[in-house]
Amino acid sequence: MEQALEAEDLGKRYGRAWALRDCSFELPAGRVAALVGPNGAGKSTLLHLAVGLLKPDTGRVRVFGREPHGAPATLGEIGFVAQDTPLYRDFTARELISLGGRLNRRWDAALARDRLSALGIPPDRPVGKLSGGQRAQVALALALAKRPRLLLLDEPVAALDPLARREFMQALMGAVAESETTVLFSSHLLSELERTCDHLIVLQTAHVQLSGSVDELLDGHRLLVGPRDAAPPDGVEKVVRAAHTERQSTLLVRSRALPAPAPGWTEREVSLEDLVLAYLADTETRDVETAWEVTA
Ligand code: ADP
Repeated sequence: MEQALEAEDLGKRYGRAWALRDCSFELPAGRVAALVGPNGAGKSTLLHLAVGLLKPDTGRVRVFGREPHGAPATLGEIGFVAQDTPLYRDFTARELISLGGRLNRRWDAALARDRLSALGIPPDRPVGKLSGGQRAQVALALALAKRPRLLLLDEPVAALDPLARREFMQALMGAVAESETTVLFSSHLLSELERTCDHLIVLQTAHVQLSGSVDELLDGHRLLVGPRDAAPPDGVEKVVRAAHTERQSTLLVRSRALPAPAPGWTEREVSLEDLVLAYLADTETRDVETAWEVTA
C-alpha cells in the first residue's frame, strides 16, 4: 500500500518546549484523514513539517516516500490551505487564479473558475470583501487547481459558522471523491468527523495518541457498562478510559470482539466521538491493571 504521508519518530521543538515529539504514523494514499486535537496539541506544527515549511529536529517525515523540506518536486504534489486562509485580500479570485497559473507548473485554472462559479462566488470582488465561508472556498479552489496528490488543510472550518462549515466540508468531499487526492485536515471540532473522514490521527500535547483507519479503530474498541467494583472482563487488552457512578463503571476498552458476554457487563457501540474523547482525556493509554488500580 502506498503511503501518502509517513512520520517516524518525528519531533519539533521551539526552544526547550516540544511542539511535537516521537510522532509516528502512516497515512495510506487515497484516504481522507482528520488530524484531531485541542489547541496547542501540535497539529499546525505537524502540517507545516509535512508541507516542508519546517525542518524536523528529530526523526523523519515523508510525502510519497520523499522528505518535503527543500524538495520542490515534492512540494509540487502538495496542496496546502493554511489556517485562516491568508489570501492576498486586495486581489480578486480571478486574479489569484491567474497568479497561481504563473507560480505553478501544473495548474488547472478552469477547475478553480468552475468551482467558484458553481458556488456563485463573485470572481471580480477583492477576496477581503467576501464572507469567511466564500474566502475559504476560494482558498480550497486554489489548492485544488494545483491538482495535488496530497491536500493538507489547517483548521479549514474553525472560523466558519455551522452552515458555511457544512458547505465547505461538502465541497471538499465532493472534490476528493472525483480525484484520487489524499486529504489530511486538522480540526479541534469533533462534529461531522464520522461523516467526513475514513482515517484518524489524534494528537494530544505533542504526542500521537491514536492513528489508523476509522473502521479498524472502531472495530478494535468496545464501550462496556458494568458493576462498579467488578474487574474488566477477560479479553480486554487496555482500559483507555473509565468513568464511574456510585454503582456503575463505563469503560472504553481496547479489545476485539469479546469471547463471550461477560456476566454483569453490557456492551454498547462505540462512536468516533467516544473514541476521540477517550484518547484525548488520557495523556497515555495504560494497561488494564494499572488503569484499574488508578481509577477504581
Ligand atoms: P495546534 O495547531 O494543535 O493548535 P501548534 O502546532 O500551533 O498546535 O502548537 C504546538 C505547540 O507549539 C504549542 O505549545 C505552541 O504554543 C507552540 N508553538 C507553535 N508555534 C510556535 C512558534 N513559532 N514559537 C514558539 N512556540 C510555538
